[in-house]
Amino acid sequence: MAAGIYVDKVRKVFGTFEALKSVSLDVQPEEFTVLLGPSGCGKTTLLRIIAGLETETSGELRIGDKRVNGLPPRNRNIAMVFQNYAVFPHLTIFENIAFGLRMKKLLNSEIEPRVKKAAGMMHIEHLLDRYSAQLSGGQRQRVAVARALAMEPEVLLMDEPLSNLDALLRLEMRAELKGLLAESRTTTIYVTHDQVEAMSLADRIAVMHGGHIIQYDRPIEVYQNPANAFCGGFIGNPPMNFLQAERENGHCRIAGAALPGPSASQGNGRVTLGIRPEDVLVAETAASEHLTGRVTVVEPLGPHNLLTLAVDQQLFRVTTAADSPIKSGQEVYLALAPERRRWFDTESGKALH
Ligand code: ATP
Repeated sequence: MAAGIYVDKVRKVFGTFEALKSVSLDVQPEEFTVLLGPSGCGKTTLLRIIAGLETETSGELRIGDKRVNGLPPRNRNIAMVFQNYAVFPHLTIFENIAFGLRMKKLLNSEIEPRVKKAAGMMHIEHLLDRYSAQLSGGQRQRVAVARALAMEPEVLLMDEPLSNLDALLRLEMRAELKGLLAESRTTTIYVTHDQVEAMSLADRIAVMHGGHIIQYDRPIEVYQNPANAFCGGFIGNPPMNFLQAERENGHCRIAGAALPGPSASQGNGRVTLGIRPEDVLVAETAASEHLTGRVTVVEPLGPHNLLTLAVDQQLFRVTTAADSPIKSGQEVYLALAPERRRWFDTESGKALH
């Protein structure tokens, strides 16, 4: 049975350092939430608090309808998979998967079908008699996930489980994990600093920054409507472009153009325009509302070319077709899709509407 996870105003202070600053989350039963953010933002700390491996300084935690503050990990009905998934070398794969069930003192007659079912889900039934030294990195990773699933937890907590794998295997395992976890319907919280992994796996992404959750929403919403400039800059490769603009009577002046601003009522001063590289058309002739830029680098990447430009001495990136004739050094005109322009308060970074 999957349970929801409710985190209410949780704070964590280490000495004088506040690692979590009043964090709240409501993960619905069967939902897959990804905690995404740069190194040091508090992802692992939050996961460890939910697991019961770390004690919160204040705030409330519930799993299902049970308050779990103060409960040891074994009484929270959770299972965990970590970055350094420990697969015991002296045990067979069967015994590795059975490990948690034996700790819970289940009978052999209960253990065997659960190990076989979890191994079946991870496509490793044929490895059950082997030892871990005979396994590849990807197979070991599957054993770690199977061990967690065999516990039939209400909640699965995963901390960068794919980060030890090489790039290709990581891609393969990501897709497999997605299919598998959708099938198992276990409520999952998954920590990563890889934004592509977050976009691919999550029902909802909680973007963390400096001990706060700054946006908690569906991946497409976080991508298209970042709550602040940090989210726009962290998600997407290349990330969202930002240009400083001067607001005057409802219009914003950037690189020789006057674009309609976020809202006429919000006065004058500096604002930041955000636009994703794929929402910009590059032309060799002027168009209405275009910005002028100079191409500094052209990188042919195969499916498309990545262009780096200077727009009003600000860095700007766009993509063009692979057969585009545009060259380094050339002056070009940039048309920004009107419905894709996003405006941010320059000082706070918060989205303006
Ligand atoms: P990473 O992706 O690098 O693992 P993270 O977002 O998971 O980063 P945390 O491990 O949660 O970050 O750490 C958040 C902050 O709290 C960091 O600045 C870290 O140095 C600090 N921190 C974590 N554990 C402790 C501890 N036991 N004592 C003191 N400071 C700690």
